[in-house]
Amino acid sequence: MKKFDPSTGIHDYLVFGEFGDVNPSITDSSTFTFHNPEKMEEVFDHEIEGCFLYSRHWNPINKYLSNALARLEDTESAQVTSSGMGAISSTILDICSAGDEVISGRTVYGGTYALLKNFLPKLGITTKFTDIKNTAGVESLINDKTKIIYAESISNPLLEVTDIPALSAIAKKYGIKLIIDNTFSPMILSPSRLGADIVVHSMTKYINGSSDCVAGCICSSNDFIHTLTDINAGATMLLGPVLDSFRAASILKNLHTLHIRIKKHGENALFLATEFEKLGLKVFYPGLKSNKDHDLLKSLMNEGFGYGGMLALDVKSYENASRVMTRMQEEKVGYLAVSLGYFKTLFSSPGHSTSSEISEEEQQKMGLSDGLIRFSIGIDNDITLAFERIKKCLKEINFL
Ligand code: PLP
Repeated sequence: MKKFDPSTGIHDYLVFGEFGDVNPSITDSSTFTFHNPEKMEEVFDHEIEGCFLYSRHWNPINKYLSNALARLEDTESAQVTSSGMGAISSTILDICSAGDEVISGRTVYGGTYALLKNFLPKLGITTKFTDIKNTAGVESLINDKTKIIYAESISNPLLEVTDIPALSAIAKKYGIKLIIDNTFSPMILSPSRLGADIVVHSMTKYINGSSDCVAGCICSSNDFIHTLTDINAGATMLLGPVLDSFRAASILKNLHTLHIRIKKHGENALFLATEFEKLGLKVFYPGLKSNKDHDLLKSLMNEGFGYGGMLALDVKSYENASRVMTRMQEEKVGYLAVSLGYFKTLFSSPGHSTSSEISEEEQQKMGLSDGLIRFSIGIDNDITLAFERIKKCLKEINFL
């Protein structure tokens, strides 16, 4: 039987498995045995590679998946969690204490916005929301209490691209942490290479890619992941957002097709965005040359993975959006559903769903129109069919 060998690294495990199986075995255990009490005490004192204590802390399959994610994001280490919000909340709570402040982009996922705006103030942690693209404005908000700059690599739902290197320079200047949520752009952007200290994901989305579970991850330095998992004070250890090991195993298998899926999502989204633009529609997609963030994305992205599968279309009113989404679902373009990264196309009206936690006033400041439809474009083999169907639906509601 092959034992853990740190010199070979996790990649060998992912390729060969422990028993010669191509997929690593699923950990079906909440607790682990020790040869003697002394060894158990040692593991309580400090983590020993290859030794496991209790599954809320670590277990082999969560370790495999975490190590694969660290490779994906090019960080020293990573930890998986039971949701994206579990990853985000644990990260913030590990860094901040009562009295501390966060500076966050205004155009973040509604749940993150609600956590920062409504929940964390109960613990004395407050947030200043700002236009994250205005880096001078971000810097002007920093004071002694600021601990975190928080942003999404490509923002939700307007798909604005964050200038990660510029934010990183500011964070480093003041000794604060830059957290980037890279949910919309795995493989396309590598925030840690661009200067982020911590990268979080909702793995519920592209990384898993089949909309059959909720999961998250935190990718960062060895030190930070050790802090999170510290038995006496770590946020993930003590708050307990542990990912179930059966789920970790299935996500790990899906992770291996991420590069192909991301390319196809991006290819299809670029096709649709280009066709929508030709029809004179107001479309938000950073892959379009006409998009204000196109050059920035080109300068930051990893070549060969496209510009992402998310696009937004403004059909001017909520009534238009509702009618066309209902028809698109009937025409089998995809599903009227929140979330993203699924192999089929999903669409929803962000102002009335995923961003509804954000007040109308803030939505206006963000430029979030009531008629905005957010699409997560699927990996359809023939996307021209979807385009013809969408065009038909837009004509039927007299929008074309
Ligand atoms: N970050 C982004 C960008 C999201 O879109 C979401 C969920 O929609 C989350 C975080 C939260 O993730 P989860 O639903 O897995 O908790």
